[in-house]
Amino acid sequence: MNDRARTSSKASSAAQRPTESAVTPFRYRRTYTGPIRSVILDWAGCTMDFGCMAPAVVFVEVYKRKQVPISMEEARIPMGAHKRVHIQKISQIDTVRNRWQETHGRLPNEDDIDAMFADFVPLQLACLSDYSQLIPGTLEAVAECRKRGYKIGSTTGYTVEMVEINMRDGKKQGYEPDSTVSAAQVPAGRPYPFMCLQNMLNLQVWPVEACVKVDDTIPGVEEGLNSGMWTVGLAVSGNEIGLPLDAWNKLPADEKARKRERAYQRHAQCGAHYVIDSIADLVPCLDDIEARLKRGEKP
Ligand SMILES: [Mg+2]
Repeated sequence: MNDRARTSSKASSAAQRPTESAVTPFRYRRTYTGPIRSVILDWAGCTMDFGCMAPAVVFVEVYKRKQVPISMEEARIPMGAHKRVHIQKISQIDTVRNRWQETHGRLPNEDDIDAMFADFVPLQLACLSDYSQLIPGTLEAVAECRKRGYKIGSTTGYTVEMVEINMRDGKKQGYEPDSTVSAAQVPAGRPYPFMCLQNMLNLQVWPVEACVKVDDTIPGVEEGLNSGMWTVGLAVSGNEIGLPLDAWNKLPADEKARKRERAYQRHAQCGAHYVIDSIADLVPCLDDIEARLKRGEKP
């Protein structure tokens, strides 16, 4: 064999037996390309109580009873959390802590939080039905979801007793989800994912990328993202703007635009896949998610 033939033979043998390093850098993964199977909706600020007013007014009242006035803005900062956790988080806001210190000569403690939560429960139960009107577009969006075969789940920072009032009032107006989970029924409420995951168990739906979470609060959007679901933030109908429908409709156009822009940014910055005004705009997001699932995209 001459030198040329020897070289050619070496090259062809290398081509037939690729080195290990050439084949190892690849991994293959399963991809879900089926339809949406469940939409998990929040309650206040999503399906009823435009502006998420009911809890906000009661947080203001329980602090007032402790001679520590708080603003509606301060009351709304932790919205979405379990209500006892919410009361505690308000007590950790610097301005509120300073006011508490001035009034009581010390900082708020766990006993104070327990006492305020004990005040909160009956006050909230007494006024919930005053704020339980369905948000426009809820019935239409839910009807379309049902037509497509999606199960309807729901999550809430309200206690079981409180959300039972919402469920009763919702049913009277024609809205009845297939599953409702309260923050009190899982190890931890928002932003933890457990309420969303409990809905999946209740509804027997899977995989997680076939589920969509819809919420008006930042902890509620985080709940959806932490659970691995597609997540839709509602900028106008809930806590981020915090105005009842009438008051929102009466705002001058420039103020509306300013508030809407800020709310959209807050939802987008926390990672929501979609941000819309209210549940009335949900169906086009579901269409887009269906298309993305078919292409093999994941949340
Ligand atoms: Mg809400």
